[in-house]
Amino acid sequence: MEAEEFDEIRLAVRRFVREQVVPREPEIEESDEIPEAIRKAAADMGLFGFALPEEYGGLGLSMEQEARLVFELGYTTPAFRSLFGTNNGIAGHVLMLSASDEQKAEFLPKVASGEWTASFALTETDAGSDPAGLKTAAVREGDGWVITGSKRYITNAPVADVFMVFARTDPDASPSKGISCFLVPATTPGVSVGPKDKKMGQAGAWTADVYFDDVRVPANALIGGEGLGYATAMACLAHGRLHIAALCMGTTQRLVDEMVAFATERVQGGKPIAEHQLIQALIADSQTDLMAGRSLVLEAARAYDSGEDTKLGPACAKYFASEAVGRVADRAVQVHGGAGYMHGIAVERFYRDVRLFRIYEGTSQIQQLVIARATLKRVSAVGR
Ligand SMILES: Cc1cc2nc3c(=O)[nH]c(=O)nc-3n(C[C@H](O)[C@H](O)[C@H](O)COP(=O)(O)OP(=O)(O)OC[C@H]3O[C@@H](n4cnc5c(N)ncnc54)[C@H](O)[C@@H]3O)c2cc1C
Repeated sequence: MEAEEFDEIRLAVRRFVREQVVPREPEIEESDEIPEAIRKAAADMGLFGFALPEEYGGLGLSMEQEARLVFELGYTTPAFRSLFGTNNGIAGHVLMLSASDEQKAEFLPKVASGEWTASFALTETDAGSDPAGLKTAAVREGDGWVITGSKRYITNAPVADVFMVFARTDPDASPSKGISCFLVPATTPGVSVGPKDKKMGQAGAWTADVYFDDVRVPANALIGGEGLGYATAMACLAHGRLHIAALCMGTTQRLVDEMVAFATERVQGGKPIAEHQLIQALIADSQTDLMAGRSLVLEAARAYDSGEDTKLGPACAKYFASEAVGRVADRAVQVHGGAGYMHGIAVERFYRDVRLFRIYEGTSQIQQLVIARATLKRVSAVGR
């Protein structure tokens, strides 16, 4: 998208987030739900498909533009971004990266417009950090497939219209080579969704288990070739990691703003606490994390756009940004003193909300492994 047009969209989203969503955060927290008016406005602004190609109704943003837009989305409750996060991210990217032209034409416009909410169903009870160990199976029957198994912690499952389901199609192949991906509408007989999970934070964003009990799907439900599901999942997760890293930096900006606002108002020892140097140290360390994280996300996004690096940068950005927002949330609570420990104060809510970022789309430990392996490979390939 042209820079000027993109900037208009980014500024409109910024205004919407700050004027329409931020004031409703307490209500979202209390009701565990995003108001329908906000959902509709998000769809009208094209937010269900900003990372999807224009020819299928998306906004067609580059990774760098996406990161800049997500900085704005991260300024409010992560539940807002989660509404359309799976459509743009892990689920929508399955179609974008691996579907045939016919499948893209049939399915992507519904995902990009928000007519469908799409979920990404990879994780299982015994397959989290190591998804290659998944047990959900898809067996050929006639022209189609029969899927049996279950998935855990699936974002947007309670409202999903369609699932991207990763299932084992070749039990004899090596664990990662025997997995394929299927598009399964939520209304298919045999698909059922468990109760909403009770989470630590991110109220208004829903996850649940999903069950597949002899679910029959046609041949064109297979997305990408047989045995290519694991590679598709990894490619979608690499994009998702940059997206989450940008989100973390949006929230870091909010936390810095909250801590500065509180520190300038709160008076102790006869002066605003912002004048105490140890409070200034907390603010300085947080601003430094913010600037370092934003720079890393943008640099990694540019390398992703050019095709120079689609793996190491996303893992470094996700690792640094998710750990940084955790540090900053902790400092923001500290700056607020006792108030920071009380429900109803934004930083208390964000402190719980941001804990998830170090866990999903690859834990920090998994990012460390990806980073170390890629670095070792690069250094041994090119030498010192
Ligand atoms: C709110 C939420 C939303 C989610 N949304 C989705 C979704 O939409 N779709 C989806 O498919 N999944 C989703 N997930 C699942 C998420 O991706 C997994 O929870 C995550 O990958 C970790 O897997 P696990 O929970 O099984 O933990 P485990 O893999 O059991 O990890 C437990 C601990 O062991 C560590 N560990 C594991 N393996 C290694 C290793 N090799 N080396 C070092 N340490 C290791 C981990 O870092 C972690 O600290 C979601 C999870 C949550 C909580």
